Amino acid sequence: MKIVALAGGIGGARFLRGLRAAAPEAEITVIGNTGDDISLFGLRVCPDLDTVMYTLGGGIDEEQGWGRSGETFAVKDELAAYGVGPSWFGLGDRDFATHIVRTQMLAAGYKLSAVTEALCARWRPGVRLLPMTDDQVETHVVVTDPEKGRRAIHFQEWWVRLRASVPAESIGAVGADDAKPAPGVLAALDEADVVLFPPSNPVVSIGTILAVPGIRDAVAANTVVGVSPIIGGAPVRGMADACLTAIGVETSAAAVGALYGPGLLDGWLVAEADADVRVDGVEVRSRPLLMSDPEATEELARAALDLALELKR
Ligand code: GDP
Ligand code: CA
Repeated sequence: MKIVALAGGIGGARFLRGLRAAAPEAEITVIGNTGDDISLFGLRVCPDLDTVMYTLGGGIDEEQGWGRSGETFAVKDELAAYGVGPSWFGLGDRDFATHIVRTQMLAAGYKLSAVTEALCARWRPGVRLLPMTDDQVETHVVVTDPEKGRRAIHFQEWWVRLRASVPAESIGAVGADDAKPAPGVLAALDEADVVLFPPSNPVVSIGTILAVPGIRDAVAANTVVGVSPIIGGAPVRGMADACLTAIGVETSAAAVGALYGPGLLDGWLVAEADADVRVDGVEVRSRPLLMSDPEATEELARAALDLALELKR
């Protein structure tokens, strides 16, 4: 069986770990979001790809959900001692090595997809991890800064430095219009038996991947089941509500299901608290959606996969 999953960071990675356990025989291809990517200290950082790679490869800081386990911050402290910022983005010593290897390979002319494959040779995530595109796409957010006025800032500055405390007036994936899907992305979608949307951020994770021309149509041509990141009107973790508000969508399982809509989704898994949710043209089922431990996560992934196989025409 061939499964394709679109994935952001933490929500995507945790779901994928459950999916790998639920379908050990399946060939799983992950199309990762690169809209969160940022250049810091001259290094290219791909937070969502790395979260998937570290989580599935056993190198993640489990508690935090991102970054390396057993991390130290000597480099960050030294940079701060030089007064070189930004200080708001947490990069640990171990994590730095990943970004150094990536940046070195990119500078040597390798595409991000080849670099990701090389990094995964170490981590052996048990899935094929593809960036959505080899082209540069960066999510930017328009905010009104009390001092600097209305301006666009990098998504990470809004999300990590400002903790989404300033409302986003709009969110855009800069460069997406001209981006091409990375090698293997469209072929994987074409060959997939089913496509799954983990409970990743619908705006800045899944939404950004779908913004790369060609990907949305290739996804829509398949049988697609999504898992809601919203339970009982709130994101399980993080600030996805701030992203949804920015695009004029209510923070509810029903509204996110309708945002993807019947054009994309065949099935939509919602939490038991949202059992009354209906989405026109989409088969909605309720299940426990909390990825609280490996067993519950595997159970959730199995439910998504089973529903997709049931709805597959
Ligand atoms: P990010 O890139 O690290 O923000 O991660 P993703 O975009 O992959 O996922 C973020 C989303 O995961 C958030 O909107 C959360 O609501 C959702 N999420 C996190 N943990 C859980 C969980 O246990 N269950 C469900 N259903 N959603 C979760
Ligand atoms: Ca992310």
